[in-house]
Amino acid sequence: MRKAILIVIDGLTPQAFEAAVESGRAPALAALHAAGSYRRAVSTFPSLTPVCLSALATGGHPDVHGIPHLVWWHRGEQRLVEYGSSFHAMRAAGLTRGLRDTIFNMNQQHLSRDAVTVYEALESAGRTAAAINITCYRGGTRHVPTLPGVPHAFGPRRFFFYSLFESDPTGAPIAVRSRAAGSIDAYAATVGRWLVTRDGFDFLVYYLPDYDFASHALGPDDCEDALARSDAAVAALIDAAGGLDEFLERYAVVLCADHGQTRIERVDRLEDAFTGVEDVVVAASNRAGMVYDLRGGRARELAERVGPEHVALFLEEGSVVARRGGEEGIELLDDYPQGRERAAAALANPNAGEVLVSAAPGAEFADLGGRHHLGGGSHGSLEAGDSLVPMLTVGLGPPPDSITGVAPLVLAHFDIEPPAYARPLAA
Ligand SMILES: [Zn+2]
Repeated sequence: MRKAILIVIDGLTPQAFEAAVESGRAPALAALHAAGSYRRAVSTFPSLTPVCLSALATGGHPDVHGIPHLVWWHRGEQRLVEYGSSFHAMRAAGLTRGLRDTIFNMNQQHLSRDAVTVYEALESAGRTAAAINITCYRGGTRHVPTLPGVPHAFGPRRFFFYSLFESDPTGAPIAVRSRAAGSIDAYAATVGRWLVTRDGFDFLVYYLPDYDFASHALGPDDCEDALARSDAAVAALIDAAGGLDEFLERYAVVLCADHGQTRIERVDRLEDAFTGVEDVVVAASNRAGMVYDLRGGRARELAERVGPEHVALFLEEGSVVARRGGEEGIELLDDYPQGRERAAAALANPNAGEVLVSAAPGAEFADLGGRHHLGGGSHGSLEAGDSLVPMLTVGLGPPPDSITGVAPLVLAHFDIEPPAYARPLAA
């Protein structure tokens, strides 16, 4: 049986992927595309990285994995959790705690115990899982950090995380040095080359975040240089195997993004809609927001305050209600890819707010630190531009139509039954 590699290029839109493949600007991606099957697939909602990477790693939407947003109100601890919307937002929420939430608590505490990560499922079946830089990494092996004063983490057996955790000495340079020049993906490439050279895994998640960083700054249509660097990081794996034929003889491949991006033309403060309303917490960042009703019973009232250009979602007697432009009805969600399913799953997450907001095209919500990406790109909404991703499989059969289909596809490849929540419904 071939081993498998999941390559995730953060924030890569299908349009950018397809154009790069066609033009020859991304030769490694083009070679994989020529060897495999490709389609456009759908992300989860909110289409924000921690939510999406948890969906990729567990095969569940937020109702299963429990991660609701980049920023959310922890009802049990009565505090905001901030996974790094921006440095300023992290500082506003408390920097030390922000880092702890992002790196440790998300995996050890916030990620639902009812969800099974692909690493946990594989290693229970005696396989070796490996992960590079993906922030959803929960596994069964305890890892000691490279820095003093930092807690240990539980990840897959081979675990590499921004130089902070390194299960094996690969000689890779420190990762977090020059983000704009692609230093994190360069770190991933060094580690990935080491792992492929030693054939040191059954399944590897190779997560490349630098493209998203560039797309936030420059906008989703202006990232050709960044995509060339992502392509070089993929080429590093292929070269380490001795070329494309050897690479594909050894590995089945899934290549996808976690979400897309769209251009930002204006900034809103979602908080402003709730001025003077007591016992409300607004958690907003990028192109999605959540409103927590600390008193309860006011979901409709709060949803009616949301600006009419946005989509407001809430539950009424257990049913999903969607509002936009003064209209109300579940059929509004048919304007968005897998809109009904994704909205229902986001609202069913016990950590989500009572009201969820999907931003209008071109709009972004400023984060806790007042930061935004005006003039650049962002994501988070139900809109197709934020939600559609490239989905390419090589040696794994047809590509899934959702990022939640990736983990079950990988498990099926290894003859492992996926968790019950991830099994396709019987026809
Ligand atoms: Zn992003």
